[in-house]
Amino acid sequence: MKNIILIAPPAAGKGTQSKLLSSEYNLTHISTGDLLRTASQKNDEMGSLIKGLIDSGSLVSDEIVINLLKDTLDNLNSGYILDGFPRTVNQAEKYLDMLEELNIPLGDVIFIDIPKDVIKKRIIGRLVCPNCGAVYNNLIEENKPLKEGICNECSSELIKRKDDNEETFDKRYDTYVKETYPLVEFFKDKGVLSTISGNLSKEETFDMLKQIIGNK
Ligand code: AMP
Repeated sequence: MKNIILIAPPAAGKGTQSKLLSSEYNLTHISTGDLLRTASQKNDEMGSLIKGLIDSGSLVSDEIVINLLKDTLDNLNSGYILDGFPRTVNQAEKYLDMLEELNIPLGDVIFIDIPKDVIKKRIIGRLVCPNCGAVYNNLIEENKPLKEGICNECSSELIKRKDDNEETFDKRYDTYVKETYPLVEFFKDKGVLSTISGNLSKEETFDMLKQIIGNK
């Protein structure tokens, strides 16, 4: 069973690469951002708490995220790719305990290292499909949808995520540096981290990921 964790700054293309990898290796794509966005649409106290945190660029509490993830893993019988989790060292520690309990191997941990100025440009033009999750960018020629504002895959109307603006991005990036970047050392110390770095295209990044994953 192949399991993959992708660590990267916000808007580095984790979602896009996860989708490509999940079809290449037949893996379930688990995005904690998507799980939380779904939970935030519920008309209850928990839903509005989660929505407020996401919209402001803050992290949701470890406990909420871990419970959502545990429910998902409990019902899964295939390999998976984790997109957006763990986001803190505490989440990583709890996750390792969870794997031991469920008897699931850790698998590959891959760090996609992209400079801040590059991703900031990418985020301003990002559009997502609320129906199938496909991601586009109306400022990058090769990532534009074929028909303006419409998903190539399912013809739904594309939306801009509320947290995809400059101010929220800066906050999310600071949170990443403080909370998530320490995971690089955490997994390096365990001898399980591979790194891809540079301003690479979607295709180049995917090729590098396949080289790492395919070699194991
Ligand atoms: P993403 O779609 O991965 O960019 O996540 C969007 C937002 O969901 C983040 O800015 C956080 O507010 C929240 N989120 C996603 N994953 C996590 C996580 N593992 N821990 C805490 N908050 C998370």
